[in-house]
Amino acid sequence: MFETKITKMFGVKYPIVQGGLMWIANSQLTSAVANAGGMGFMTALSFPDPDALREEIRKCKKMTDKPFGINLTFLPTLRQPDYPGYIQACIDEGIKFIETAGRSPEPYMDQIKSAGIRVIHKCTTVRHAVKAEKIGCDAVSIDGFEAAGHPGEEDVTSLILVPLTRDAVSIPVIASGGFADGRGLVAALALGAEGMNMGTRFVATKEAPVHEKIKQALVDHGETDTRLIMRSLRNTERALKNPVVDKVLEIESRGNTKIEDIAPYVSGDRGKKMLESGDTDSGVLSAGQCMGMIRDIPSCGQLLERIINEAEAVVREKFGKITAGR
Ligand code: NAD
Repeated sequence: MFETKITKMFGVKYPIVQGGLMWIANSQLTSAVANAGGMGFMTALSFPDPDALREEIRKCKKMTDKPFGINLTFLPTLRQPDYPGYIQACIDEGIKFIETAGRSPEPYMDQIKSAGIRVIHKCTTVRHAVKAEKIGCDAVSIDGFEAAGHPGEEDVTSLILVPLTRDAVSIPVIASGGFADGRGLVAALALGAEGMNMGTRFVATKEAPVHEKIKQALVDHGETDTRLIMRSLRNTERALKNPVVDKVLEIESRGNTKIEDIAPYVSGDRGKKMLESGDTDSGVLSAGQCMGMIRDIPSCGQLLERIINEAEAVVREKFGKITAGR
């Protein structure tokens, strides 16, 4: 029922995408998503160098014979990643899809496209989606204000952003931000997307390689429990409200914030330790408003099956009645 331009492009069963998740989207999670019929992207920057990414790609290939891709995020970082090296590792390992995110992938398009790799650019504004199409991206993933991580600076929700992006580009659109269940999938398709991306929902799955207490925190917290940090640096991040986030907000409220002022609190290394220890008060945990809809910790297989069953039921019960009544 849910074959779309995106399922055809990726060669997967369901139009459900697990986008890049820093420290979390590794071979264990991404292969589980792939085996469940979705499209998963391992996050390159989670691995210290291109060789480590290469190893993880090989590991993932042993865990699934289904398609999967690599996420490359171009945002400010405390360390300078070797982007050409990571791309070369993808090329050498026969990766067919790269999800870029954040800043424009334009400086790397020649290297990526000359290897025949398709680019799905994740962005947060219509104009960036238009630019992505212009520079040769094959699809865009448009991230609404509800999203975890970096939802941009313009605060437009998915309900508005997805149809406007659909109207503005002719390449396939993936709806991202606020999606966590079968109702969301039907809504994403109705808004003009060819599929939906989920991040936070995939962190609360059995296969996500994080401490159980992190997963439980996503179950226990609701849609109002996130805060936006780093707005003063125009690098906004939506995260679970906790004492570290409160501290960052307090520093930002003083004005003239520099990255050095908050780096000890927001650093990825600190976040990585938090994901391993399960101490949800010890770092910044990216989390979306869809936390309100996360009530359990299923396997990826159970999750995708449930989403598809729910989406089919919505189509049958709601739209079936509407069309039958005409
Ligand atoms: P990191 O330790 O290099 O930096 C920690 C945080 O500070 C990140 O959010 C980063 O964007 C921000 N930052 C660093 N230097 C900055 C500067 N000069 N100005 C403004 N903000 C600055 O980050 P990491 O945890 O190792 O992650 C690596 C990359 O992946 C970062 O670019 C990060 O933003 C990105 N990331 C993306 C998502 C997502 O949802 N797409 C989630 C987590 C991390």
